[in-house]
Amino acid sequence: NLKIGVVGLPNVGKSTFFNAITNASAAAENYPFCTIGKCATCPQVDPEESRVAVPDARFDWLCKHYKPAKEIPAYLTVIDIAGLVKGAASGAGLGNAFLSHIRAVDAIFHMVRAFDEPDVIHVEGELDPLRDMEIIREELRLKDEEFLTRQVSELGAAVKRVGHGGNAADKARKEELAVVEKVFEHVKSGKDVRHGTWSNKEVEIINGFHLITAKPVVFLANVSEKDYLRKKNKWLPKIKAWIDENSNGDLMIPYSAAFEYRISLLETAEEKADALKEAGVASVLPKIIVAGYNALQLIYYFTGGPDEVRAWTVRRNTKAPQAAGVIHTDFERGFIMCEVMKYEDLKELGTDNAVKANGKYMQKGKEYIVEDGDICYFKFNV
Ligand code: GDP
Repeated sequence: NLKIGVVGLPNVGKSTFFNAITNASAAAENYPFCTIGKCATCPQVDPEESRVAVPDARFDWLCKHYKPAKEIPAYLTVIDIAGLVKGAASGAGLGNAFLSHIRAVDAIFHMVRAFDEPDVIHVEGELDPLRDMEIIREELRLKDEEFLTRQVSELGAAVKRVGHGGNAADKARKEELAVVEKVFEHVKSGKDVRHGTWSNKEVEIINGFHLITAKPVVFLANVSEKDYLRKKNKWLPKIKAWIDENSNGDLMIPYSAAFEYRISLLETAEEKADALKEAGVASVLPKIIVAGYNALQLIYYFTGGPDEVRAWTVRRNTKAPQAAGVIHTDFERGFIMCEVMKYEDLKELGTDNAVKANGKYMQKGKEYIVEDGDICYFKFNV
């Protein structure tokens, strides 16, 4: 169950954003079987953790098509991580505790404040998103630097004890040390791990360390409601330029936490649609959720029928048997084949039988790599 954490300085709008997506998803009447906090079949959901349905027009269409008894979309788990401050990496403001929460997530929404509001104190004084992004980036990098310093010295000592030769485990440790030293130099030079070029072997070793700057990042620029409505904010071009220069052009999405929160409080879908129509803008929350999901390198395939339409989450590049294993381990163990329809074909041709009649119903073997949006039916031996 992969998670994305919301990270930023205090008072930038993290909680407002978190509450907006939580409300939006709890109010999604489409999914009555599982509203947060009230669900018997879901694991207990922490207050600072929210499971948000990933919006998808294909899923909606499949539900209309099959009219199933149960509809289960894909979910993104979002974690609200308390504000970091300057000096967090060296312990300021409970910094170390928060940074360890960040180590535990798989990707990051980096929230930056681009709204001016005299009533909402800014911990650093004047509004300056570029300075803020630099602070957060530096704290995260310092944390990795500190961690790697320890690794280099511990591994270095272990390798030295063995000297020349050694067994296979010693050789592996030597190899690991070489990689750790390389990553350490990279981080020390001021760069994030995810922007380095690494071999597959190196990636394997690096992944084991859960480094913070290795995690994918989506930047969210929180602008005032007024700026969001007029689609203009003087900081946005500068924020974009900073990201291009310092963060390899990671994705940045402008939005207004205050506006989204206000809309999320409206009870019915009609009220929301009316409010958005009146404002002349769309909610950008769906786009943010999808971007977070994509950042995690996740995709999903569908199963569909009168009982249930469901999205099954797998990592990108998962082969058919392992994808089947997400439904049940028996499906993986006894895998025979995967029958696949493409969503576009089903939509165009109208029924499963029409897809079959047109030769578009495919039978795939165990080497097939499941693609996003595939509609799958697995055959297996019991
Ligand atoms: P956090 O500390 O990052 O979680 O920030 P909060 O979400 O608690 O927001 C801090 C304050 O800023 C709250 O009083 C919010 O109502 C306010 N705030 C958040 N987003 C906006 C915005 O877009 N415009 C304005 N004017 N205020 C906002």
